[in-house]
Amino acid sequence: MPHVHEFSIAQALAGQVLRYAPAAGRVREVRIRVGALRGIEPESLGMCWEAVTIGTPIAGSVLRVDLRPWSIHCPTCDRTWDSAVPFVTCTCGEPEPLPQGGDELDLVSLTVDEDAA
Ligand SMILES: [Zn+2]
Repeated sequence: MPHVHEFSIAQALAGQVLRYAPAAGRVREVRIRVGALRGIEPESLGMCWEAVTIGTPIAGSVLRVDLRPWSIHCPTCDRTWDSAVPFVTCTCGEPEPLPQGGDELDLVSLTVDEDAA
């Protein structure tokens, strides 16, 4: 398996969604928020999501990943900013500002079609 990390996360998420999904209606979309520290590839997580939901009541639902950026703090000039990558150089010349990534992995919302057959 090329994406063991994403696969196990998708499995855990699917378990949560199945627990919270309403008995009536069909889950169309699942939205999650993921901290940069998790190192997740949204695309491969989406593929794993398809794989782990096959044959379950939430098969065919779409996983939307809201990837949070790194928060970078520079100890030299005391500046804090968001960055897509953890290792950057600060504009003040500081070569190693500190990446502070969140490790959150939160289920944000479920979109359910109430009247699906
Ligand atoms: Zn700086």
